[in-house]
Amino acid sequence: MSDSGDAKVRVAIIGSGPAGSYAASHLLRHTETEVHVDLYERLPTPWGLVRAGVAPDHPKIKSVTNLYERTAEHPRLRLFANVEFGRHLTLEDLRSHYHAIVYAVGTPIDRAMGIPGEDLPGSHSATDFVGWYNGHPDFCDLRFDLSGERVVVIGAGNVALDVARMLVLTREELAVTDVADHALEALATSGVREVVVVARRGPAQAAFTNPELRELGELSDADVVVDLAEMGSAETVPDPSADTTARRNVEILTGYATRSLAGKPKQVVLRFLLSPVALNGEHGVESVSFARNALEAGPDGVLRARATDERIELPAQAVFRAIGYRGTPLADVPFDSERALIANERGRVRRGEYVVGWAKRGPSGVIGTNKKDANETVDLLLEDLSAGRLLDPQPIGDAALEDFVRSRQPELVDYARWRSIDLHERGRGEPAGRPRVKLTRVEELLGVLAQGADD
Ligand code: NAP
Repeated sequence: MSDSGDAKVRVAIIGSGPAGSYAASHLLRHTETEVHVDLYERLPTPWGLVRAGVAPDHPKIKSVTNLYERTAEHPRLRLFANVEFGRHLTLEDLRSHYHAIVYAVGTPIDRAMGIPGEDLPGSHSATDFVGWYNGHPDFCDLRFDLSGERVVVIGAGNVALDVARMLVLTREELAVTDVADHALEALATSGVREVVVVARRGPAQAAFTNPELRELGELSDADVVVDLAEMGSAETVPDPSADTTARRNVEILTGYATRSLAGKPKQVVLRFLLSPVALNGEHGVESVSFARNALEAGPDGVLRARATDERIELPAQAVFRAIGYRGTPLADVPFDSERALIANERGRVRRGEYVVGWAKRGPSGVIGTNKKDANETVDLLLEDLSAGRLLDPQPIGDAALEDFVRSRQPELVDYARWRSIDLHERGRGEPAGRPRVKLTRVEELLGVLAQGADD
C-alpha cells in the first residue's frame, strides 16, 4: 500500500466477528468516497463467535467465514489481530488516527440467575462451556466434571440447545468437527446420560429457532422427551407475541411429545414452566429446586412467568445456565448500564463513534441479523461522512499507521499471518477428516508464525 494517501478516510472497526465483518463489507462497498478500514481483533484469530461461539457440529453456519475472508482480502482493508482496544490502543489513539470508530465487541459476559447455590462447583455458565469446547484461549484451561448422569440446562434458547447437543453427541459425531481436542476427549468419555433443558415459560414462548429445535430430534444417540401434559396448558394460552416460529416450535414439540421413543442410550428432556430457585448440594451441585410457573400477561400483553406455590426438585450433578449474555463497558466509551450495552441511538454513539451487532442491540438474532444491523449503522456513518460530521484525525500514511500499531503490539497478526495459522490448523485436521484442529492458546497460535519465520 502506498503512503501517499494522507487524505484517506479511515475507519477502525473493533472486533472481527459477524457484526464487524458486515460493517467492513458495507463500508468497502461505498462508492462515493473510498473508505479504508482497519479491522482490529483482540485474539490472534478473527471471526469472533463464528469461530468461538457457533457449535462445532454446525459447519454450514461456520462457512459464512468464506464471505468474511473475501472482505478481509479487499485492498482497502487491513486486519490488525492480536491487538486489544484499551490495552494496546486507547480511544484517544484511535480518535487521533481515524475519522470514525465502530465498536463490534459483542456482549461477552453471561447473565447470572441470582439464586442460592449458583456458585457451587458444578454450576457453570454456558458462555464458559461454549468457549471451552470451541477452544477459545480465555476458556481452554477450564475443567468440567461430566461424570454425573444428569445435567440440567437452564434457558430455552439456541445456546441451551447447543449445550444440550454437545453433551450427547457421540465420539464419531464429535470427531469430524473442529471441537477443541481437550473437549472432544472429555465429551466423548462423559458419563452424561440425560440432559434436562428447562424453560421458565411455555413452548410458545421458547426462544428456539425451528431448524435448531428440529435438529434435536435427529440425534443419533439421544431421544427427545417432552411431556404433553406439561406443555399442554401453555400451548392454549393466546400469546400476542406468538409468531410463525413460535407456532412451528409448538408443532415440533408436540411431535416429540407424541412420538414413541426409539430407546437410544441418552435422552434430552425438554421441560416447561419451571424457574430455578436454588441449586443444592454440600460440596457441589446435587440437585436443582424449581418453582412451577403460571403465565400471566403483563401490561404490554407479553406473557411472563409467575411462580406458583408448587416446588419440584431435580437431582443433577451439573448445571449450565444459558439465559443470555450482557455487554461490558469499554474504557472511555459511553455505556448504558440498564441495558448492559454501549449507549447508542440506532448505532450512533457520539461524534465519530458507532456500534454494531450485539453491543448495539443486545444478544439476539442469528448471524445474518447482524448484516442488516451493521448496514443501518454504516449508513448513518456514511451520512455523517458526507455531512462533515466525523472526527478530524491527524493525516497519516498507511505504513506509518501500521508502524504505530506495531509499536504498541509488535506481535500484530495481519491477514497473511492469520492465513498461515489457518492453513496450519486445517493441515492438522486433514489426516482425521476434520475441518481443522484448533490451537487453543495464544502462545501456540503465535508459535506457528515464529516457526514459519524460522523455516
Ligand atoms: P436467548 O435466545 O435470548 O434465550 C435465553 C433463554 O433464557 C430464554 O428462554 C429466556 O426465557 C431464558 N431466561 C432468561 N433469564 C432467565 C432466568 N432468570 N431464568 C430462567 N430462564 C431465563 O439467548 P441465547 O440462547 O443465549 O442466544 C442468544 C442469541 O444467539 C439468540 O438470538 C439465538 O438465537 C442466537 N443463537 C443462534 C444459534 C443458531 O442459529 N444455531 C445458536 C446459538 C445462539 P424468557 O424468554 O422467559 O426470557
